[in-house]
Amino acid sequence: MAQHCCEMMRSNVENSCDAHKERFDCPDCLIHYSADWDRYGLIIHDGGSSTITISYCPWCNTKLPNGLD
Ligand SMILES: [Zn+2]
Ligand SMILES: [Zn+2]
Repeated sequence: MAQHCCEMMRSNVENSCDAHKERFDCPDCLIHYSADWDRYGLIIHDGGSSTITISYCPWCNTKLPNGLD
């Protein structure tokens, strides 16, 4: 189980809703955490499964593991 930097991050990463089976289809799902890569991404709601890797938590500003350094 991954440790997330703060409660906001945790709830956003773990957030899912009943209306959308895929988190990428849900406009309420903002952040995707990839356990394989240990990195966080902003979900791009373009109908696919794109993300933009983020280096800092938007809520608590903790530096995130992003696999780039
Ligand atoms: Zn945080
Ligand atoms: Zn939804």
